[in-house]
Amino acid sequence: MHLGNVFAALIAWLSVKSRSGALVLRMEDLDTQRTSEEFAQQLREDLTWLGLTWDWEMPAQSTRSEVYDRYFEILREKDLLYPCYCTRSQLHSVNAPHLSDGTYVYPGTCRNLTDSQRAAMKRSPAWRVKVPEGIWQLQDLAQGTFSQDLTKDCGDFVVRRADGVYVYQLAVTVDDGEAGVTEVVRGLDLLGSAPRQMYLQSLFGFSHPQYGHVPMLLAPDGRRLSKRDRDLDLGELRKHLSAPQLIGSLACSAGLIDQPAEISARELAGEFSWQKLRGEAIYLDAAQLMR
Ligand SMILES: [Zn+2]
Repeated sequence: MHLGNVFAALIAWLSVKSRSGALVLRMEDLDTQRTSEEFAQQLREDLTWLGLTWDWEMPAQSTRSEVYDRYFEILREKDLLYPCYCTRSQLHSVNAPHLSDGTYVYPGTCRNLTDSQRAAMKRSPAWRVKVPEGIWQLQDLAQGTFSQDLTKDCGDFVVRRADGVYVYQLAVTVDDGEAGVTEVVRGLDLLGSAPRQMYLQSLFGFSHPQYGHVPMLLAPDGRRLSKRDRDLDLGELRKHLSAPQLIGSLACSAGLIDQPAEISARELAGEFSWQKLRGEAIYLDAAQLMR
């Protein structure tokens, strides 16, 4: 696990345990080239080392494509799907407006192709869901009010890739809905995707969960701590730090405790409040961690 994932997992656990809820573990392994059972096992082991226990584990996303097929059919029955034949370079044209997270606003190029135009296409299509006019708004536990107009901020979005793999938006909406997840805690980089999931939730008949998008961890110079910082992998940190040392450093940087201290996740649960976590960034001097 990278330190950013550790932080999000810690906050998810604290939020749940400070209110006697249950934590669901789920392997989001649709990108099969970057995942393996070995990684999954390492992740379970890292969470256990941190003291971040989970109450139950859902089946991995890679085993659930038949479930996702059923929800894909619901969208088809509502006449909300269409095939998109755009190439990557067409989608990434320099003129295309895009969101801060790099998502391109889809201009609807393939929305009104005729059947004969579709039949003439030589490549297999991705499938997009049509988005309606209107504002989607949520009250985020850490970020406050957030709203998006999907037609302007996103456009019709892909739910199944051309290679047949379902995308994050559809898979997590189905998984959260079927598991009865009431609170989603994850990194701020995913805030912009929440309105897409809220839209799918409404189509599938699921209630909207509460969202909490935790601030990003930044180096003191403002640089985002990234996966390239190999020394911030938990595998490396575990050689130098105990779990209470690491959790204490994260908790202090995040303002959950006033002074650096060794503290277990269990002890920290009593101190937890979303009020303390407001904002977009938490500054963490990684070099300090090792001292
Ligand atoms: Zn297209």
